[in-house]
Amino acid sequence: MLNTKVEEALNAQINAEMWSAYLYLSMSAWCAAEGKPGMANWFEIQFREEQDHARILFNYVLQRGGRVNLRPIEAVPTEWKSALDVFESTLAHEQKVTSLINNLFALTTAENDYATQSMLKWFIDEQVEEEENAQNIIDNLRLLGENSGYGLFVLDKELAARTYTQASPLSKA
Ligand code: MG
Repeated sequence: MLNTKVEEALNAQINAEMWSAYLYLSMSAWCAAEGKPGMANWFEIQFREEQDHARILFNYVLQRGGRVNLRPIEAVPTEWKSALDVFESTLAHEQKVTSLINNLFALTTAENDYATQSMLKWFIDEQVEEEENAQNIIDNLRLLGENSGYGLFVLDKELAARTYTQASPLSKA
C-alpha cells in the first residue's frame, strides 16, 4: 500500500508530466506554424514521451493499490521568440522537472518507500538525457547560427528524423 504523502506526490507528478506533454504539443504547433516541420516532429515526439511518463506513474500508483486523481491541466505558453527561444525554454523546463523528480525521490527517502525509489531511478536517468538532448540542440543552433536560414534548414532536417520509441518501463509491462 502506498503511503498517502507519496501517493499525493505521485499524483502531482502525473499532472506535471501531462502539463509537460501539453507544453511540448504547444511547441510542436508553434514550430509547424513557423514553417519548421522537423522541429514540430521533435516536439511531437516529446509530447508522446511525456504522456508515457505520466502513464508509468499512473500504472505504478494503481499497482501499489493507490488512487489516481487526474486534475486539470493548466494552460501552457503558445508563443516563442525564435527557434533558440523554444529550445532554451525546453531546457529550463526540463531542469525544473529534474528538481521535481529529485524532491519526489527525497520524499521516498524520508518515508522509507524503497519500491517507489526503485521506480523513480528510471526517471532520474531519463532527466539526464532530457537535459542533454535540449542542450545539444541549443549548442547546434548556436554553431549553425540561430538566425541563419541555412543553419535552421539543416537542423530542421536532422530533427525531422527523430522517431518515437515507447518508454522502456511500459514496453516491459
Ligand atoms: Mg517527463
